[in-house]
Amino acid sequence: MPDPVPFLRPNVPRLSDMVDGLRMIEESGVFTNNGPVNARLEASLSDDVFGHPESVVTCCNATIALMLAMKDVIRTRRRARYVLMPSFTFAAAAQAAEWLRLTPLLCDIEPDSWTPCAASEERLIARHGDDIALILPYATFGAAIDLGRYAALSRRTGIPVVVDAAASMGTTLPSGRPFGAGAPCPVIFSMHATKVFGIGEGGFIHCADTDVVERIRRMANFGFEAPRVASLPGLNGKLSEVAALIALEKLKTYVDATERRVQLAALYRQELPDWQFQAPTAGRQAHAMMPVLPPDSFAGSRQSLIDGLAEAGIGSAAYFAPHLAQHPHLARHVVSDALRVTDHVSSRLVGLPLWDGLTDEAVRRICREARALVELGAGMRHFIRKAKLA
Ligand SMILES: *Cc1c(COP(=O)(O)O)cnc(C)c1O
Repeated sequence: MPDPVPFLRPNVPRLSDMVDGLRMIEESGVFTNNGPVNARLEASLSDDVFGHPESVVTCCNATIALMLAMKDVIRTRRRARYVLMPSFTFAAAAQAAEWLRLTPLLCDIEPDSWTPCAASEERLIARHGDDIALILPYATFGAAIDLGRYAALSRRTGIPVVVDAAASMGTTLPSGRPFGAGAPCPVIFSMHATKVFGIGEGGFIHCADTDVVERIRRMANFGFEAPRVASLPGLNGKLSEVAALIALEKLKTYVDATERRVQLAALYRQELPDWQFQAPTAGRQAHAMMPVLPPDSFAGSRQSLIDGLAEAGIGSAAYFAPHLAQHPHLARHVVSDALRVTDHVSSRLVGLPLWDGLTDEAVRRICREARALVELGAGMRHFIRKAKLA
């Protein structure tokens, strides 16, 4: 039997290769509180990645970063109670909204790109306008959603925008610019171990409005403006120096890793011609895994596919199932548009393995197994139909 293939395999920089940097942190005696290593990381991200000085603030994770950014933009909308977001996203977006005592207002997704559906967003805005505190689009699976459209929507409606780009560090636009660069609203990225830019735990916010960045930095430090005097809403969202060191190391390799994953994704498309892949929106998409819909001819259940792959030693996972409207903690109080496409995609989508060290040969084997399972499912349907006719 060939080697097992895990669904994900984090590629965090080797701690044992960072002994010099760790020793410097130790000797400096500064372990957190916006220390010198964190300052270097923020400068690299601001200047070298996004091309806007002082446009990045780091955070202990992306969920806290979402909470901080949302808290900042709703200052002017005290009475509004909804956060407009897609139901097809990770639980963190809804949970972050709930910590701010806001209620998720859920839109559907586009059938091809699986990104938030523009018509569905418009319907919800027409219906709930002044009750919407902010719009929180998700850049689905590292997609490059159209931030220009959201900027225009925000200008037209007066509703602020925060972008959940948790999985998009490494994604570029067709022009080659990094996704989110120069955005007028906060764009949130995660550095969780499972993302392409994985360091363990961490996140950051990029925003071209440096006042927003500076305010969020203070909010992430207990709301202090003067030392130990809270004049803003706050919590502790700071990134430690050790985490910042790991992220600086990751900056050296993530572009190559993202490009390798793009090659692997192309191979998946080639090997599974009848399956539905996410419509491309990016120049280069940061793929944290390979989400795909089995062909319509597949009559078996998604679970039978996941189980069949597991028997062949291949890890895979359902995404996002449940979607937000179906989570027990949310189902009873969220407000939703019709979620026809979300229901369809969420009930069928399978995430296949995609990680930095995965070989072409392993992808071919995964696809062989997946094709065989779909044929088996189709064969079963034929068999059942014949049995019924007899
Ligand atoms: C990973 C992820 C998050 C959470 O990021 P953390 O850094 O783990 O808090 C939020 N939203 C989406 C869409 C994600 O994929």
